Amino acid sequence: MKNQQFVVIGLGRFGSSLALELMDLGYEVLGVDRNEEVVDEMSNFLTYAVVADATDEDMLRSLGIRNFDCGIVAIGDDIQMSILAAILLKEMGIRQVVAKAISVLHGRALEKLGVDRVIFPERDMGIRVAHQLVTPNLLDYIELSKDYSIVELTVPAALDGKTIGEVNARSRFGCSIVAVQKPGGCLIAPTSLDLMNTNDIMVVIGNNNSIHDFETAIDEYGQEPQ
Ligand code: ATP
Repeated sequence: MKNQQFVVIGLGRFGSSLALELMDLGYEVLGVDRNEEVVDEMSNFLTYAVVADATDEDMLRSLGIRNFDCGIVAIGDDIQMSILAAILLKEMGIRQVVAKAISVLHGRALEKLGVDRVIFPERDMGIRVAHQLVTPNLLDYIELSKDYSIVELTVPAALDGKTIGEVNARSRFGCSIVAVQKPGGCLIAPTSLDLMNTNDIMVVIGNNNSIHDFETAIDEYGQEPQ
């Protein structure tokens, strides 16, 4: 078991999937939900699962919530409950509080309360799927700021056997390949002589426009004028 401990408040679709994934990753997870049936269903899969109302301060204290490293408020629909739970977690001094928001206003309220990270799962998944639909090689991306991102792209057949230097993403497109994941391991900060092969995964950082140009050009690499 890894030593970071998480408490997930609200075991709906989002909360339960998050809690199960954290368990799979080897962390200890306490799940809290006011619905007994939900808790029964999850109790075999989590380190602990407890029936409790997230706004019951005494109950949360008795569970030792303040000793957890990260608390996630995964209640969405009931904004009042979500906000009250977030306030309690913050007041108890949990090091990192994350909360799910279902609207911009809900998100803003959570931020004002000092929630360390507000997530919008439905909105973010919609954006992610849209990117993946229009960019077939895109596996994942992280938005660093409004203009800059890190993306993971599969190396297409057109780049098989090419070196980083030959692809020359930095001079041609203005973005950089900062890592290449290969079946045998990950090449961090590859040199211009390192080779890429079909189905390796390249991690690219840069301005969104340059990444977009790179993504659209790599399938036809070698066919366009150099
Ligand atoms: P999802 O989309 O993840 O299924 P949702 O946005 O529909 O969730 P809700 O249905 O409001 O969110 O809540 C998710 C879970 O949180 C439910 O299992 C519900 O029982 C639990 N929950 C809601 N309010 C509280 C509360 N005050 N204390 C504890 N658990 C709560």
